[in-house]
Amino acid sequence: MEDNEMQCPYCNEEMKKGYIQSPRQQIFWGEEKHKMFITPSSDDISLSQGTFNVPYVESYCCLKCKKIIIEF
Ligand SMILES: [Zn+2]
Repeated sequence: MEDNEMQCPYCNEEMKKGYIQSPRQQIFWGEEKHKMFITPSSDDISLSQGTFNVPYVESYCCLKCKKIIIEF
């Protein structure tokens, strides 16, 4: 298995590599759902790797299970 391959933990088939992208400035994960997006809180995990205008994060998608795995 190469570095850029990922097996789906649900069905064990190869996942497709792609990018989660946003038209906004940042992508982040948090336990709390924000009412308004002003700035992420310190507990939030930033997922964005791209430039200010084109945030993205590499991810692996299983179209069969409809699951996406993101590494941050
Ligand atoms: Zn799967």
